[in-house]
Amino acid sequence: MHTQFTGWDDTIAALATPPGVGAIGVIRISGKAALAIADNIFPAKKISLQPSHTLHVGLLKHNETVLDEAVVAVFKEPRSYTGEDVIEISCHGSNYILQQVLQAITSNGARLAKPGEFTQRAFLNGKLDLAQAEAVADLIASNTEASKRAALGSMRGGFSGALKAVREQLLKFAALIELELDFSQEDVEFADRSALYAVVNEAALAVHKLISSFQLGNVIKNGVSVAIIGKPNAGKSTLLNALLNENRAIVSDIPGTTRDTIEEVLNIDGILFRLIDTAGIRKHTSDIIETAGIERSIEKMKQADLVLYIFDVQDDADEIETRVQEMKAQSLNYILVANKIDRLNDAEGRRIFGHYDKIIFISAKDGLHTETLKERMTDAVLHGKIQTESSIVTNARHYHALKEVATSLEDIRLGMNNNLASDLLALDIRRCLHYLGEITGQVTNEDMLDYIFSKFCIGK
Ligand code: GDP
Repeated sequence: MHTQFTGWDDTIAALATPPGVGAIGVIRISGKAALAIADNIFPAKKISLQPSHTLHVGLLKHNETVLDEAVVAVFKEPRSYTGEDVIEISCHGSNYILQQVLQAITSNGARLAKPGEFTQRAFLNGKLDLAQAEAVADLIASNTEASKRAALGSMRGGFSGALKAVREQLLKFAALIELELDFSQEDVEFADRSALYAVVNEAALAVHKLISSFQLGNVIKNGVSVAIIGKPNAGKSTLLNALLNENRAIVSDIPGTTRDTIEEVLNIDGILFRLIDTAGIRKHTSDIIETAGIERSIEKMKQADLVLYIFDVQDDADEIETRVQEMKAQSLNYILVANKIDRLNDAEGRRIFGHYDKIIFISAKDGLHTETLKERMTDAVLHGKIQTESSIVTNARHYHALKEVATSLEDIRLGMNNNLASDLLALDIRRCLHYLGEITGQVTNEDMLDYIFSKFCIGK
């Protein structure tokens, strides 16, 4: 089936470690010619005759030139990452050496791999399903404990397993119902309708659970955008610094974010909070005119997943009430941060503002209650959901396909309630199977795969 894909027969090679100087650089080769190529460039031993999963130290040579002393690892098909013969060569991490070795490999018949091509081959050879393969990219991109855990769970098949079970059961029913069509004159029912109904109900439950996990999955994968809003002197930059001092996250790049609007990232309990427009907080210059400042704040609030509205506890209560009403009217997810509680006592602050339910009293300057603020921030996005080991959908492609699955399950259910003709019922089941298959990769086309794998790094 997979021979329809172009370039499938080639032997591919790539640097699997990041470009640049490192202690070690690893080059991978996968495909029919991998062992022969290793034989050619590693004259010390015949690699092709060595058992799978063994390591060999020796000189790498191209023609008569010594390239490096290296370690060659042998993985014979099908017991390799791609399912093909795979050679991994650990060289000294000089860019020059690695380029020379790659050149020797390509002049022996391999071509350079496209991004994600090793994983694509693993998928095409049935080593991973599509959802698992996509989780490999997520795992590489993960930068918090939570995103790592979700990706690792999916890569190991947690998410796919649940869908496969649903798919298999529905396949059985589709086949039985289609068989009935062959006997349509005789009015037989091979497929037990009440059993099908139960399967559909159970599947719908599982699918809805996965769909609703996406909100959490999205938070885990992409982080939460936060706007710190408040009048000049409310304490925005003091709060920002207090939060950053303890929780500044080390992030290389977050997909879908632009560097000029998002500048600081916090890691609180494994969730990334992206503080938007922190430049606006840091420079107190252009927004002196109040109205301009307010317009800018409204724009920021609309962009944010979470708003921290900070004010001085000694500020006018009516004004705060107006802001709260505005935020409510826009259905914003907000936390009221009553700052400078050190100036007033806590009890006094509570007397004035205590009737707000989403309020927290802090002193940004003294770091008082900032820990509680962080807890509230995670609560505000997780809505009390504790991350369990159960499957979490983090991938937008899976989410959209799952919604189609849910719709078709509902159509099956409605059809059965209305005694829909078997041929139409079978169509609904097939549609459901189609979308399930899109997630795990039983239903694919070359363009879709190219698109998915093009987002991987080279060498994976
Ligand atoms: P921004 O304009 O909202 O960014 O406010 P700043 O963070 O620059 O703070 C304005 C002033 O309030 C500064 O002098 C801060 O030191 C002071 N300030 C900030 N937080 C507190 C606090 O918790 N207690 C007290 N007493 N002063 C604070």
